[in-house]
Amino acid sequence: MQGMGRFLEGRRALVTGSVQGIGLAIAEALAGAGARIGLHGLAEPEGFAAAEAALAGAGAPEVRRFAADLRDPAAIDAMMDAAEGWGGVDILVNNAGIQRTVSLAEATPEIWDAVLAVNLSGPFHTMRRALPAMAARGYGRVVNIASVHGLVASVEKAPYVSSKFGLVGLSRVAALEYAGAGSRESGGVTVNCICPGWTETAIIAPQIEARAAAHGGDRAAGIASLLAEKQPSRRTSDPAEIGALALWLCAPIAHNVTGTSIPVDGGWTAQ
Ligand code: NAD
Repeated sequence: MQGMGRFLEGRRALVTGSVQGIGLAIAEALAGAGARIGLHGLAEPEGFAAAEAALAGAGAPEVRRFAADLRDPAAIDAMMDAAEGWGGVDILVNNAGIQRTVSLAEATPEIWDAVLAVNLSGPFHTMRRALPAMAARGYGRVVNIASVHGLVASVEKAPYVSSKFGLVGLSRVAALEYAGAGSRESGGVTVNCICPGWTETAIIAPQIEARAAAHGGDRAAGIASLLAEKQPSRRTSDPAEIGALALWLCAPIAHNVTGTSIPVDGGWTAQ
């Protein structure tokens, strides 16, 4: 971020789901401040290569690939072992997430299990491993990408809303347990959620398509209709704006910002 310099030189940041979307934008912001990036996600080799090129362009001194499927706790454990071998994780961004828009009655156990596994259990498994070492070093940042749906509900999102409310709760417990770690000088250990509203990435494409279909196939009209329903600014967010906030949370000046859930939602949750 402008004016902040390369204050993350020497730090390692593992960003889940960083091969695209909000995760890639966060990784780019951290790379721009000098962080070594643990690149992660479900992608083809070309997807990883494209993200690596973007991160090198953003200024990453190193990019290390991680490819755990977050539905598999053993795979997450192996990833955290590898991250320890890499030198440890100073910054953990739990960004990977999935969405299924379906009514409660039609949500299958398989949908429930998958959404809860990726969006809530995944962050549990990574935080459990990363936080003790952060406390030992006196500096650590966990930034969990929840959602406005960690703060308020919408119809046809029972698994997603449940997972994101859970992530907000999990983050608060972790913030309390690690609030006393480190010092102002070392930077402390903080755990926060960012709660985006509508942000332009692949995850919202199915909802945009469905709404566009209701407007004669007009995509812009579909987006406008979604925004009008919930997001008073009537503007979507750009993933880079979420990246800038995540970067700020990693700064030493944010040592006392912990246990928060910060909406980036154009006023959605103010209503
Ligand atoms: P996206 O679909 O572009 O990215 C999701 C990422 O998660 C991908 O990199 C994917 O590889 C990874 N992922 C999914 N399933 C995985 C699995 N089983 N194992 C490992 N990785 C997996 O969407 P996005 O918008 O960039 O989403 C990022 C986060 O932001 C999610 O947690 C999402 O819930 C949250 N969010 C997005 C919006 C929005 O409007 N885009 C709003 C609120 C919250």
